[in-house]
Amino acid sequence: MSGIVTKVSGPLVVAEGLEDANVSDVVRVGNQRLIGEILNMTGDSASIQVYEETSGLGPGAVVETTGHPLSVELGPGMLNGIYDGIQRPLTEIREMTGHTIARGVDVPALNREKLWEFVPTVEQGAQVIAGDVIGTVQETTAILHKIMVPVGISGTVVSIQAGSYTVEDTVCLVKDEKGESHKLTLMQKWPVRVNRPYVKKYVPDKPLNSGQRVIDTLFPLAKGGTAAVPGPFGSGKTVVQHQLAKWSDVDVVIYIGCGERGNEMTDVLMEFPELKDPRNGEPLMKRTVLIANTSDMPVAAREASIYTGITIAEYFRDMGYDVAVIADSTSRWAEALREMSGRLEEMPGEEGYPAYLASRLAQFYERAGVVECLGADERKGSLTAIGAVSPPGGDTSEPVSQATMRIVKVFWGLDSSLAYARHFPAINWLTSYSLYTDGLKSWFDSELGVEFMQHREQALSILQEESNLQEIVKLVGQDALSVDDRLTLETAKMIREDFLQQNAFVDVDSYSSYERQEMLLAIILEYDKLCRDAVKQGAELSELFAIPAREQIGRAKSVPADEYTKVYAQIRENMKDQIADTISGGAQY
Ligand code: ADP
Repeated sequence: MSGIVTKVSGPLVVAEGLEDANVSDVVRVGNQRLIGEILNMTGDSASIQVYEETSGLGPGAVVETTGHPLSVELGPGMLNGIYDGIQRPLTEIREMTGHTIARGVDVPALNREKLWEFVPTVEQGAQVIAGDVIGTVQETTAILHKIMVPVGISGTVVSIQAGSYTVEDTVCLVKDEKGESHKLTLMQKWPVRVNRPYVKKYVPDKPLNSGQRVIDTLFPLAKGGTAAVPGPFGSGKTVVQHQLAKWSDVDVVIYIGCGERGNEMTDVLMEFPELKDPRNGEPLMKRTVLIANTSDMPVAAREASIYTGITIAEYFRDMGYDVAVIADSTSRWAEALREMSGRLEEMPGEEGYPAYLASRLAQFYERAGVVECLGADERKGSLTAIGAVSPPGGDTSEPVSQATMRIVKVFWGLDSSLAYARHFPAINWLTSYSLYTDGLKSWFDSELGVEFMQHREQALSILQEESNLQEIVKLVGQDALSVDDRLTLETAKMIREDFLQQNAFVDVDSYSSYERQEMLLAIILEYDKLCRDAVKQGAELSELFAIPAREQIGRAKSVPADEYTKVYAQIRENMKDQIADTISGGAQY
């Protein structure tokens, strides 16, 4: 079924004569067969968002509908892959057409020739329902790809056989109740704008271990949770996102890059394939799918990329894996939405963004969660969604930041003044928050001990107190402070400099285990306590501040991972002795 283009306005094309088409259908436009998607229909006239450059296209060009919604191919071969916003494999396309993507190219998302070793996990005669795992493919050394019965199919396995198959070969035949046969392949398709179903959702109760101290200890994210990282240009959003992609203890990472700056995505494309998974030394790409919108791609593709990414993530979640989606940045995505809305001549909302901005953002984050997957075996999977927000000028009162803050449960607010002072990660401890701490408490209590949460509370309150005291110091000067207050300022400084600051580019410091985070913070808090006791017994603050153990605490971050337990215990002993000396008057610091 085909129509005729009546208007072209950048990525928006209007075509008539498409009375049988549906909203969300994928269409091919003009001689170059550009890929587009129908956004809305009025009578037989369709407004189409075209995902490729439309220059040279004009009224009169033919539009053909495919009758299918915008979908992704799900199956072995996605990991290690770099796709554009509509799941076209960038590496393969570049090999075919050179550096820039030729328009209208048709390269399937999953390689059609590659053979995969399929190992059945059910036998002939088994009863299966949608979501059941019928077999596996060792996709990469990191991930065992589970082949699941597609949604909508259930019945009896008539045949199933191990062997080498392409993604299109039939690996299993299922006969349903009506006697109809279904051929199952290694690949299935799913429309990107429709959430993949699950049995039920659970409240997230396990933390996502990121190895970043300010995140794990102060503002923890739960597996299956949602988080936003807003921050002005240069405040460290990209570094935070890369750290999360590298270190998070999830099985699969989907990184959606929305082309922040011209060359930034190129950085990701260059850097990621080089990275090694710190847990097993394997290339990180073996558990990663990259969705890249470089700046030479039209904005419309950005709009789709978020959905493409999260659908792929849901599919791995459905296998029972912990998956993280990292979107950098949702502001660029929202701008694409705004541009299309403007061209559609919709009524603009705040700052020109469409009125549905908030609901679209919510639809994205809503797809996160801990779920019981479809299938009879009650397996659980989780999808964690993390979005960077880059408000112009760093002003978070703008619509995208505001809408995001109303949805997400963790907020890591990056601060340009911290970045300027080289305090990295520049996550502001006064404005950031995590609403998962209550839900995670029992995990932390039982896995790490009750002190973990107690120390967290204590550290936060010292930092808060520091900020109050700083106000007083500004007004009346340092001398007006009591000894206790001066100690609070000193401990807060240690928490900031010796604990929260973490250099992403120094190997020993880039990742901190929970145990290490806990020990380090415990030493600082113990210093605080011992000093307060010592002061009561007549010790001088200046001597307490000068004990040699202080310097050791300052250097504790750079102690190699295999030595820190021993070294930290030693620092603690030294600290106790040296503080005791200040009381007895024997200190010579
Ligand atoms: P943004 O994406 O917000 O524009 P970037 O993530 O590119 O900012 O960070 C800007 C610079 O800040 C980086 O190039 C790096 O030098 C520094 N930086 C950010 N985070 C860290 C960190 N955790 N450790 C060390 N340096 C950092």
